[in-house]
Amino acid sequence: MHPASPADTSAPTIGFVSLGCPKALTDSELILTQLSAEGYRTSKTFDGADLVIVNTCGFIDDAVKESLDTIGEALAENGRVIVTGCLGAKQGADGGNLVASVHPKVLAVTGPHATQEVMDAVHRHVPKPHDPFVDLVPAAGIKLTPKHYAYLKISEGCNHRCSFCIIPSMRGDLVSRPVGDVLNEARALFESGVKELLVISQDTSAYGVDVQYRTGFWDGKPVKTRMADLCEALARLAEPHGAWVRLHYVYPYPHVDQILPLMADGRILPYLDVPFQHAHPDMLKRMKRPASGEKNLERLARWREACPQIVVRSTFIAGFPGETETEFETLLDFMREAQIDRAGCFAYSPVDGASANALPGQLPAELREARRAAFMAVAEAVSTAKLQQRLGATMQVLVDSAPALGRRGGVGRSYADAPEIDGTVRLLPPAKASRTLKVGDFVTARIVGAQGHDLVAEWG
Ligand code: SF4
Repeated sequence: MHPASPADTSAPTIGFVSLGCPKALTDSELILTQLSAEGYRTSKTFDGADLVIVNTCGFIDDAVKESLDTIGEALAENGRVIVTGCLGAKQGADGGNLVASVHPKVLAVTGPHATQEVMDAVHRHVPKPHDPFVDLVPAAGIKLTPKHYAYLKISEGCNHRCSFCIIPSMRGDLVSRPVGDVLNEARALFESGVKELLVISQDTSAYGVDVQYRTGFWDGKPVKTRMADLCEALARLAEPHGAWVRLHYVYPYPHVDQILPLMADGRILPYLDVPFQHAHPDMLKRMKRPASGEKNLERLARWREACPQIVVRSTFIAGFPGETETEFETLLDFMREAQIDRAGCFAYSPVDGASANALPGQLPAELREARRAAFMAVAEAVSTAKLQQRLGATMQVLVDSAPALGRRGGVGRSYADAPEIDGTVRLLPPAKASRTLKVGDFVTARIVGAQGHDLVAEWG
């Protein structure tokens, strides 16, 4: 949670809770930045706040419950609550707004990506303080992630209609942000000290499709609204800061091949987060997945040929409706052959409002869970073998935590680890007592061990 804003102590205080995925986090950052710009103070507690905003997640049933419970707590402890985010866009069983029907006392409910509507609701209930503190807001806005890394959202919504997903119905079709705005935000982030930029969207490879890859302008020069052009410009921006650029949610389309040279040259991190979800072509069709006709094993082989150091992260679903034993075996074979470095797997779970709920052949919960466990056993064997190959290697590590100036060691990540979702590199106490570490430093470390998903390294 971000620290209280610099506004004076007589200014009204808005409590803020941010739940959900990195995309929801960027919505929270926009709202917090605006609150701060208008002179409101913000806090992470309900108590003593003039109003509470809860940014919710509505993706899976557990997240819905967590969001509804948090709203209930905020109402009990504070009483004045505004709800925003994905859950705010969801219908209840009666066709009305779900949040409003469960918690009729909330003051206002908006969907995701609604900074202005949230601000309008705040203004209605807690008038704007005088003397906005615009000058005190950092150019890059307020970030909920630690200062040394930040998420950069390049688009909203999605043109696909995967049968297990309700994001398009909540967030609408793809809307790409203008490339000039995205690059301005990236520059401000690097200038404010960000050392790792994580590019996110629902489908990063589709950037610009909605505007026919329109030519935008940045720094007086034309730049196309297209993933390859955006990556080239981000690499150029990151270089003088020695910063990393990491790509998330990329689908295996042929045009992704164009960014492999940037990765091979180390200008964009050689890391791709590709949500494959399954490997059997019939399953992918039933899931209505993008790029379902692609030959993914061949594509991965080409990527590895172009950039041998590339690390691929992916997520999968086991036990999707109608998944046969043979289809599941195909998924396990794919995992063994594709050698996905970092893989996560969910047992299929129905999401309220998703079209997959009506598919025939729903599998019992125990079978879905057993398949998830079988998949993870294969994935872990692949990951363990991959980590063992790193022993003795020298890697650049970005420091995430360094208590006591790192004299007792610290924790960081290499290019192979995205924050929150992958492993870490545990840094041992330095060989020379005079060496220190700070959060946001890059250190060169020698890998001396592997533990689970993590590595252990010497430095200094
Ligand atoms: S690509 Fe599929 S899973 Fe991803 S947001 Fe779009 S519809 Fe949902």
